Amino acid sequence: MKEKTLTEIFEATLTGKVKSYQFINPQAVVVAEWVRFKCQFGCDGYAQSLTCPPYSPEPSRTKKMLEEYGRAAILWKPGNYGNLRKIATDLERTLFLSGYYKALAIPSGPCELCNPCPLEYPCSHPEYARPSMEACGIDVYSTVRQYSFPIEVVRSRSCQPNYYALILIE
Ligand code: SF4
Repeated sequence: MKEKTLTEIFEATLTGKVKSYQFINPQAVVVAEWVRFKCQFGCDGYAQSLTCPPYSPEPSRTKKMLEEYGRAAILWKPGNYGNLRKIATDLERTLFLSGYYKALAIPSGPCELCNPCPLEYPCSHPEYARPSMEACGIDVYSTVRQYSFPIEVVRSRSCQPNYYALILIE
C-alpha cells in the first residue's frame, strides 16, 4: 500500500535539490543504437566503470525495460552530475520504501564513487551505482527537449551544462 502520493514524495525529497522535475510517460523516452556507438567510440569513459558500456544494458534491453513501466519523471539539475546521482538514488529508495517497489533511478554520467572503478563485482556502492541514461542507450537530448527542458552541446568550459536523471516508477 502506498502511504503518500508521488507529488508529496517528490516535493519532500527534491525541494531545493534540483532545479525542476516533470512527470512523463516512460514510452516517450527515446532509445537509439547510435547512443551506444557514441559511448564506445569517442568517450574516454568507455569500459572504465561498471555502470558504463560494455557493462551497462544495451539499447534493446532498455527499450524492453521501459515498456514495463507506466510512469516516470525527469529531474533537471544544472551544474554537477555527481550530486544528481545521490539525489536520484535517494529518491529511488524513498519511493521504494513508500510502496513504489519498481522505482529505479537512471542518472547522468559515469559512476565516480571509486577512483578508479575496480571493474569487479561486487560493486563497492550498490546503493548509488546506477547506469546513466546515455549508458543505457537513451537519447537524452531528444527525450528532455520534448518537455522543453534546456540542453545543448557543451562547447567550452565556460558553458553551464544541464544534467538530467530519469526516475522510473510503479
Ligand atoms: S561504486 Fe565504485 S565499483 Fe561501483 S560502479 Fe561505481 S566506481 Fe565502480
